[in-house]
Amino acid sequence: MSGGYDVELFVDGPDYDLLCTICRCVLRCPVRVACNHVFCKTCILQWLRRQETCPCCRKPINPSCMFVMYKLSKTISRLRIKCNNEGCLATFPLSEEFLHSSSCQFQRVPCPHQGCGSLVPRSALEVHSQHCQHWSQLCPLGCGTLLTQDIQPQHNCYRQLRQQVEAQRQSHRAIAGALRRKMRRMQNAMTHVRRQVALICESLEVMGEGQEGEDEEVEGEVYEGYVEGDTTGESNASSSSSSS
Ligand SMILES: [Zn+2]
Ligand SMILES: [Zn+2]
Ligand SMILES: [Zn+2]
Ligand SMILES: [Zn+2]
Ligand SMILES: [Zn+2]
Repeated sequence: MSGGYDVELFVDGPDYDLLCTICRCVLRCPVRVACNHVFCKTCILQWLRRQETCPCCRKPINPSCMFVMYKLSKTISRLRIKCNNEGCLATFPLSEEFLHSSSCQFQRVPCPHQGCGSLVPRSALEVHSQHCQHWSQLCPLGCGTLLTQDIQPQHNCYRQLRQQVEAQRQSHRAIAGALRRKMRRMQNAMTHVRRQVALICESLEVMGEGQEGEDEEVEGEVYEGYVEGDTTGESNASSSSSSS
C-alpha cells in the first residue's frame, strides 16, 4: 500500500528529495525523524510497527520524537498534477485535487437510482438517468403510483381518467339541457297550434252541422297524437329529466 502520491500524477517529474524512501512516491504528510530522514507519516508509522530503526540509516527511532514538516507539505501541495480521469486534460495544484474531481465532467459517479450501481462519467449522468432501467418516480399527477421505465409509457393515471370522465359528463349534461329546452319550445308551439285548430273548428261548427264529420276527421287524423302528448307533456318531461 502506497502512502504517498503517485509520481505519474505530476506534470513535471518531482525532485528526488520530495520522494519517500519507503513507498517511492511523493511525500504525503511528511514527517522528520531524529536522524533527519523524511517519510510519509503513514509509511513510517507502518514501518515502526515492525522495527524501530530508520529505513535509510538504521539508526534507532523514537516514535515520540517525530516532526510534521508543514513547510514541505505546503511546497508539495503547490505542485501541479494531472487529472486522473480518463479523457480529462486538466492540470491543477495538488491542493485543488478534491475541488477539481468534485466538478470534473470525466469523473465517474454512481447512478443515483437504487439498484443500478453503474458508474457513469458526470457529463453523461443526465442522459443515463433518463434511460436507466432502475429509474423510478412517483406519478407527477399525484395518483400515488410509482412509475418505472416499464410502467411509465402505459400509465393511465386515474386522475387523468377522472378528469376526462367529468368533462364528458358535463358535456352530456349540456346536451340534455339543450334537448329539454327544445322540447319545451316544441310543446309550447304545439299548444299554440292546438288552440288555433280549436278556434278553426269552432268557427267551422258555426258555419254548419253538415260538415261536422269532416271536421272531426281532420282533427283526429292530424292532431290526435299531439293532443294526447300535450295533456301529459309536462309530467313526461319532468320524469325523464330526473331519471337521466
Ligand atoms: Zn511514503
Ligand atoms: Zn535515518
Ligand atoms: Zn478532470
Ligand atoms: Zn442507472
Ligand atoms: Zn398517475
